Amino acid sequence: MTDPRRSWWGWGDEASALDPGDVDALAASVQARLGVELPAPVTPPDHRALTLSDPRLRPPAALAGLFDDSVRERALHAHGRSFRDVARNLRMEIAHPPDLVALPHHEGDIAAILEWASAQGAAVIPFGGGSSVVGGVEPDVGDAYSGAVSLDLGRLDRVLEVDTESLAARIQAGALGPHIEAQLRPHGLTLRHQPQSFEFSTLGGWLATRSAGHFATLHTRVDDGVESMRVLTPSGMVETRRLPASGAGPDPNRLFLGSEGVLGVIVDAWVRVHRVPVHRAAAVRAFDDFGSGLDAVRALAQSGLNPANCRLLDPLEALLTDAGDGSSALLLLAFESADHAVDTALQRALELVRDHGGAAAPTERDAAGRWRAGFVRAPYMRDALIRLGMIIETFESATTWERLSALLEAVRTRAVDALSSLPARGIVTCRITHAYPDGAAPYWTVIAFGDPSAQVQEWAVVKNAVSDVIAGAGATITHHHAVGRDHRAWYERERPGLFAAALGAAKQVLDPAGILNPGVLLAGS
Ligand SMILES: Cc1cc2nc3c(=O)[nH]c(=O)nc-3n(C[C@H](O)[C@H](O)[C@H](O)COP(=O)(O)OP(=O)(O)OC[C@H]3O[C@@H](n4cnc5c(N)ncnc54)[C@H](O)[C@@H]3O)c2cc1C
Repeated sequence: MTDPRRSWWGWGDEASALDPGDVDALAASVQARLGVELPAPVTPPDHRALTLSDPRLRPPAALAGLFDDSVRERALHAHGRSFRDVARNLRMEIAHPPDLVALPHHEGDIAAILEWASAQGAAVIPFGGGSSVVGGVEPDVGDAYSGAVSLDLGRLDRVLEVDTESLAARIQAGALGPHIEAQLRPHGLTLRHQPQSFEFSTLGGWLATRSAGHFATLHTRVDDGVESMRVLTPSGMVETRRLPASGAGPDPNRLFLGSEGVLGVIVDAWVRVHRVPVHRAAAVRAFDDFGSGLDAVRALAQSGLNPANCRLLDPLEALLTDAGDGSSALLLLAFESADHAVDTALQRALELVRDHGGAAAPTERDAAGRWRAGFVRAPYMRDALIRLGMIIETFESATTWERLSALLEAVRTRAVDALSSLPARGIVTCRITHAYPDGAAPYWTVIAFGDPSAQVQEWAVVKNAVSDVIAGAGATITHHHAVGRDHRAWYERERPGLFAAALGAAKQVLDPAGILNPGVLLAGS
C-alpha cells in the first residue's frame, strides 16, 4: 500500500494541504487582485465516496500478494498531478482507473508481472511518484487491452552501492528525492537533483522523463549525470556498462532516458553524485525590464561561470512568489562548491549583471529564501486555487537566444487572447528557469478565473492555444515536463518522421506485445 499520508486527489501529503483559514486568505487575495467573486472552495472528496468501474483483471494466484485493487490505490494511481488531473479528481471524474496496482519488491517480481501481463494482453504503466503533469501515468490505453496495471516502483527505494572514489551511486528507481538524499548524506554526498516535485518524485521517473532540477546552468538535466542503467523490458534485461564516457556508437542509455515507460521499466541506475557543497555565495539583482534581465542571463550563461542558480523572474512572478514587490524583474543568482570559495565567481557575475543594468534589489529581504519557500509550497497553493474554481497551468519550453524574445511575446499575446476569448480574467507570468550558452528555458504560469463549471474545458482552450504557439515558433513542447499523452500531438510535430519510425521499431523489439504505457510518446495500438 502507498504511504497512507499521501493525498489521493492532490499534491503531496494530505496533512500539508492548505488549511481552511489559508484557503480563505488566498481567496481574498485573488479576489482583490483579479476583481472576481470566487465560489466557496470544493471540499476534496473522501476516496470512500468514489465509485470506480469494476476491475477487469484478476491477479494470478502466484503473484496475488503483489497486487492491490482497493479503491484508494486505484484512485491514487489513476492520474498524475497536473491541473487537469487534480480538477478531475475533485469532481470524482476518474474515467480510466487502473484495474490493478502492482507493488513489486524486486526485479524478479517485475519480470513475472511483465510476463503475466504480456500473456494477458494487459497494459502496464510504470509509476514512480505519480507526479507526471502530462498524462504519463493515466491508464487511458484504449480498448485493445484486457485491462491496465499501474506498476508502482515505490518498494525499490534503496541506494544499493556508493563509489566514493569515482563519485557515483547505484540507486533503485523507486526512491523518492528525500530518501535518496538521506541515504547519500552519511557518505557526505548528494545527488543535487531537485525538481520542484523533489519530495514526491523518483529517480526512475526523473530518468524516464529527463527531468530538470536545482541547477539552472550546466548540471540542469538528470540525464547528463547517468553512468549506466538497468532496464527490464518484456524481451529481457538491458544493462549498460558503467563508464564515465564512451564513443562506442549511439549511447544505449540515451534510448531509455526520456522513454517514459514505453520501452522498459528502469530498475536502477548508476548516477554521478557530488560532495555536499560548503562554499556558497548568492545575490539578488533587479532590472527595470525583463529584456535587460535576459541579456544579463545570456551573458552569464556564455561566461563559463556556471552559476548553480540563475533564475530570472518577471515583475509579476516576483510579486506572486513573494520574492519582490512587483516593481522590477529579479535575478536570483547563486554559486556553490564543495571545493573552493565562490565569492570571486559571484563578483565577476555581478559585474556582468551590472553591465546589463542589474542593480541591488529594492527589497533585499531574503528574496531568494522567500522564493524558495514559495516554490516548495506552490503545488499546495495550486491545489487550493483549483478548489476555488480557478484555472492554473504552467507551460515550459526552450529555444535559442535569437528566437527567445519572439517566443516570449507570442506566448504572452496568445495566452491573453485565449483568456479574453473565454471570457476569463487572469494573469500570465514568466520566469527563465534554465540557461544555456545557446538558449534558455522559459516557464509561464497562467492563473485565471472563468466559469468554474467549465474549468477543465476553459483550461483546454488556453493549453491548446499556447501549445500551438510554442510548436509553431519552432521551440520544444517541453524542456522538462515530458510528453506523456497530453503533449503527444505537439511532440509529433517536432519529432523527425524517420526517428519516429526508428523509435517504433525499438518498441517492437523490446515490447513486442505493446503492453508498456500505450499512447505515451507513440500512438497506441
Ligand atoms: C508540482 C510539480 C512540480 C514539478 N516540477 C518539476 C521540475 O521542477 N522539473 C521537472 O523536470 N519536472 C517537474 N515536474 C514533473 C514531474 O515531477 C517529473 O516529470 C518527474 O520526473 C516525474 O517523476 P515521478 O517519479 O513522479 O514519475 P511518474 O509521474 O510516476 O512517471 C512519469 C513517467 O515516467 C514513467 N516512469 C516512472 N518510473 C519509471 C520507471 N522506473 N521506469 C520506466 N518508466 C518510468 C511513467 O510511466 C511516466 O510515463 C513537476 C510536477 C509537479 C506536479
